Amino acid sequence: MKRRTFLQLGTVIAAGAVLDGCRSKNEQLIPYLIPPDEGITPGKGTYYASSCNACPAGCGILVRVSEGRAKKIEGNPEHPINRGKLCARGQAVVQELYHPDRVPHPLKRNGPRGSGAFTRISWQEGIGLLTDRLKALQREQSTNGLALLTPHLRGTLAELTGRFMRTFGSTNHVSYELLTPDLLRIAARRSFGQPTLPYYDIAETRYLLSFGADFVDSHLSPVKYGSAFGEMRQGRDTVRGHFTYVGGRMSLTAASADRWMPAKPGSEGTLALGIARLILAESLYDSGALAMNGLEAKKLLAALDRYDLPRVAQLSGLPQGAIAEVAREFASTRPALALAGEMVAFQSNGPESVRAVHLLNLLVGSLNRPGGIYPDAGSPSGPENSFAELIALIETMRGGHVKVAMIHGDPLYSVPPATGFHDALAKVPFIVSFSSLLDDTALHADLVLPDHAALESWGDVIPVAGTREPLVGLMQPVVEPLFDTRQFPEVLLATAHELGGRMAAALPDESYLELLKGAVRKQAGFGAGVDFEAAWVDLLQHGGLFKTKSVQPTGYRWSSDAPPPLPEDPDFAGDQKTYPFHLIAYPATAFYDGRGAPYPWLQQLPDPMTTVVWGSWVEINPETAAEHGIGFGDLVEVSSPQGTLRLPAVVYPGIRPDMVAIPLGQGHRGMGRYAQGQGVNPLALVARQGTKQQPAWNATRVRITRISGNGELVTAGHPQGSLRSELVEI
Ligand code: SF4
Repeated sequence: MKRRTFLQLGTVIAAGAVLDGCRSKNEQLIPYLIPPDEGITPGKGTYYASSCNACPAGCGILVRVSEGRAKKIEGNPEHPINRGKLCARGQAVVQELYHPDRVPHPLKRNGPRGSGAFTRISWQEGIGLLTDRLKALQREQSTNGLALLTPHLRGTLAELTGRFMRTFGSTNHVSYELLTPDLLRIAARRSFGQPTLPYYDIAETRYLLSFGADFVDSHLSPVKYGSAFGEMRQGRDTVRGHFTYVGGRMSLTAASADRWMPAKPGSEGTLALGIARLILAESLYDSGALAMNGLEAKKLLAALDRYDLPRVAQLSGLPQGAIAEVAREFASTRPALALAGEMVAFQSNGPESVRAVHLLNLLVGSLNRPGGIYPDAGSPSGPENSFAELIALIETMRGGHVKVAMIHGDPLYSVPPATGFHDALAKVPFIVSFSSLLDDTALHADLVLPDHAALESWGDVIPVAGTREPLVGLMQPVVEPLFDTRQFPEVLLATAHELGGRMAAALPDESYLELLKGAVRKQAGFGAGVDFEAAWVDLLQHGGLFKTKSVQPTGYRWSSDAPPPLPEDPDFAGDQKTYPFHLIAYPATAFYDGRGAPYPWLQQLPDPMTTVVWGSWVEINPETAAEHGIGFGDLVEVSSPQGTLRLPAVVYPGIRPDMVAIPLGQGHRGMGRYAQGQGVNPLALVARQGTKQQPAWNATRVRITRISGNGELVTAGHPQGSLRSELVEI
């Protein structure tokens, strides 16, 4: 037998064995442009288009598959968000598939919660255990005893989960994400009467003014906006756009700026209004834009009366001259664009500060103009109060009213303990996790029904932002499932069918793929006469539906009843005397909100500003470090009114002396061998802001103390070297 024939035969036998319980997956695999050859040629790759779901940006990917294994991921050049580019987290998605600690089959707890003691069970038993609990709720007529906690969902999965919960009779579906853009939506609603996130035309602008929007690192759509920034700087023959960054910590984005304005945390909105006032006072505004939005310069100037330069300079900690210079540059360079990001939004006065930045765009005529901002058509609506909904759910759980919690995601890691979530969840008698790794939440679950990896899954991925045209990216399984796992929506459908009655009638689809195809068909507007199967193949080959039905373009217009933005003075947990430093918990470039931590490529990826790998650190200004006798790599205790953490110090000139910063993403109790026990989770320090039901992750004060011991810092190329003797083996 020839080697080629042997390999083809082997493939057929293997595929037949796998497909026994999962028919026709191979029939559905649609390669990108290259038609399938007659069999496997060793070493020859086939490319499949799919979508990245490692963060909400929803980039398009091409996966090279060779001999049945996913080998490499690249950006899809046809996808309008990323146009062939990809970030490191997207590259690492392949490590999710081949992670050695994936949960390979359903598990039932057989030891104390958190102990990691589980027994293997079958899918039949797993779905049976879940439906038994749900049937009990139906019998007791307490269907609101079911809670579902997921990340923010869009597209078909959002529709399916919504229908599942509504039909079951529960209102307890909370979609929570740590880095939620809720506050940006709230600000847009208050200013423009619509909660649509902004689309930034960075590529075409000539003056970019970012208030804590780290668009190269993590803000909304980093690949899209990172490459647009490259175009702004180098893509035009005669224009190189200017970039000023406002924020107390020098992020990777800030490091690309021409000017860094290290404003005090929480003062960014006040600073924006100081700039706005100067533009009005010196008549540098676009009078047509003001008139079009129903605003009068005189009245606005009067409303901003108290934002005079001396006061704004004092509140922001910036020199008057620098503020005035930026205001004049911003107003006299057209088009100019101002952005507001997470550093601003996650303060106690977040939404009003974001609105102050909106006002700046309006004043210079940058609403709905090239080089300015438009409403983002990607996901025009989304949660606005998900944190408040989470707090309400915590109260319900605390009161003992939630009997079954179905959880997709890892809230025991990503919800700050100050909310009381951890104690409240412990009161839920039955917790089901759908995680593919034993993460912090899955370790406390009674039942684990493991999801497929992304590269084994079907789905539609609607980017959270970064597009003026609505689009739908598609995910297709590029390899056969490696283990006895099932996609989360398939489990919901199977559970509904098992429950029978109204549930089965409301969710009749035999498979998630069927449901997905129906939704895409509807979205694409394919009528009865269209050969949908051919169109579906075409969509899969290219990675999605990039031209959806034409929609009426919308614009931002200042609401007639919207008052001028008036950010309150920032409010911080912890008194200044005991806790003299502001804590900033920022998303690490490699880990985003912690999702990247399980993957060794990302653990080994040096942080772009500090070169630290495999761990956590606290950034301290050299002046502050000297005052406290702290040197590079020393072990430091960071304490807030909420908790205490110990971690090594990085003496970092790119941070204000009254601030310290810790990256998010490490400090997992579970999540596999590479994440478990690495570093600390700064959310343990975040304190709740009184009774405000608003995420204010950056509104906590801390104190720092040098303690004995080595911080065990590992760096790659830092001038002061690495302080751990050997790098961690992978
Ligand atoms: S920005 Fe997000 S969606 Fe895009 S490649 Fe990176 S992780 Fe994936």
